[in-house]
Amino acid sequence: MELRRFFVKNSDFDENIVTVSGEEFVHAVKVLRYKVGYKIILSTGDGWDYMAEIADVGKDYFKAKITSKTPNKGMPTHRVTLCQASLKGGKNDFVAQKAVELGASEIVFFDSENVTEKRVQKDRLDKIALEAAKQCHRAAKPEIKVSDFSKILELSKTAPTVAAYEDEEEVSLSVALEKLRNQKEIILVVGSEGGFTKKEAEALKGAGAVLVSLGKRILRAETAAVSLLAITMYELGEMNA
Ligand code: SAH
Repeated sequence: MELRRFFVKNSDFDENIVTVSGEEFVHAVKVLRYKVGYKIILSTGDGWDYMAEIADVGKDYFKAKITSKTPNKGMPTHRVTLCQASLKGGKNDFVAQKAVELGASEIVFFDSENVTEKRVQKDRLDKIALEAAKQCHRAAKPEIKVSDFSKILELSKTAPTVAAYEDEEEVSLSVALEKLRNQKEIILVVGSEGGFTKKEAEALKGAGAVLVSLGKRILRAETAAVSLLAITMYELGEMNA
């Protein structure tokens, strides 16, 4: 049986005994009916997989004994941040889930001029990111942030940034990425269903972002996000065996 992963905090550790409570307890004991003797993996976000065995089940906690630890293989070796203008109708959920699987280190949902869905459900997206991290065997849940366009401009100044712009007619993604192959940190920016305004595109450029085309067809924002991230990860070698 594949071992299930549960996320805990450093403060849950007492030497080699970990006390698991809250939602991870509910999931393991109430939903999955895990009992004493079951083997699990615990993650704190520090890059290690703690192999453990359930030693005691209480009313609202269980204790697990660490048996060994191994480096987690799912941790990305590059820090890629995906900035996505907030989308409608559950599409932020989709983008968050896929971005975790593809290895984004941080996912920032932001407000911009053509965003119609102004509410970003951070708690819900955190849960989706946690589930996706477990599913794809990552030992840390990427951070979900809520932001706005002006802060994305600030962020663009901190690391090489590639922004997908539907009206870009000259620069191809392949050309932009060729120059970024040796970078350890990259920021990607994708617009909302309504796209970026010309003014926003110019502001991104002014902040140092490279505006790129993803081809002659207009992709849906979520398709653009997944494609841009997947291609970037491929270029960085994050898709290798
Ligand atoms: N409503 C706009 C399209 C927005 S597409 C229009 O009709 O022109 C949503 C977002 O996906 C864009 O802001 C951009 O970030 C990205 N995108 C979609 N297709 C793209 C393409 N061919 N090149 C670059 N970016 C693209």
